[in-house]
Amino acid sequence: MPEITFLGTGTSNGIPVIGCDCEVCRSTDPRDRRTRTSALIRYDGHAVLIDTATELRAQALANDVRRVDAVLMTHAHADHTGGFDDLRRFNELQGAHIPVYADPGTAAMLRERYAYTFTDLFPFYGGKPDLHLHEIDGPFELFGQEIVPIPVLHGRLPITGFRIGDLAYITDAKEIPAPSLELLHDLDVLVLNALRARSHPTHLSFSEAVDIIKTVGPHRAYLVHLSHETSHADAERLLPPGIEVAWDGLVVATDES
Ligand SMILES: [Zn+2]
Ligand SMILES: [Zn+2]
Ligand SMILES: [Zn+2]
Repeated sequence: MPEITFLGTGTSNGIPVIGCDCEVCRSTDPRDRRTRTSALIRYDGHAVLIDTATELRAQALANDVRRVDAVLMTHAHADHTGGFDDLRRFNELQGAHIPVYADPGTAAMLRERYAYTFTDLFPFYGGKPDLHLHEIDGPFELFGQEIVPIPVLHGRLPITGFRIGDLAYITDAKEIPAPSLELLHDLDVLVLNALRARSHPTHLSFSEAVDIIKTVGPHRAYLVHLSHETSHADAERLLPPGIEVAWDGLVVATDES
């Protein structure tokens, strides 16, 4: 039974945005404070992190995350990788290397930007991240559970969503190609990005996300990666029943037993 903790649900600036006095950035609703988008999936006693957002350390403290057994990377944009170095604390706690799974393009960028994390320089854990990078090109098994990569388009950039049992997590998509929609049947929970009401070249808008959710037909859907253009309360009012806006710290368990 996968359970998801939404560690962060904001777009690349985070909310509040630095130097912005708009209503959403000044909102007193805690759900309008959004760190960069990332999630922790738990199943069978294992904790799998999706992306290492800029605020990984703060997110781990806020949600009492004490273990990360593996990391799935959706893509290498800065808001999804900025907390990469914070993985070293989990190396220290666990006294072990941590496997990281990424598509070949994302893996190449991670190797370039974080080369030091994939070499073993220190005879102890904690001084730097110690990671094993695995390139993925199809479904693979992780702790006895099949993980299905879902290829999506982030504007022109091909990136990866993930299906874990009856839960799928897709962030930063603008388009989900037909073969990938086929991989999203019979979901209990679909997590999907939706930036704002207006259209955007590399992210789904609310109405575009709703169209995809209606096509796929999960029992429940949660939107992530919101901008400061719409408050949590206003976004929820725009959405049909069964589609909710996630917020930092929300925990959702799926029905599968
Ligand atoms: Zn603002
Ligand atoms: Zn991105
Ligand atoms: Zn992003």
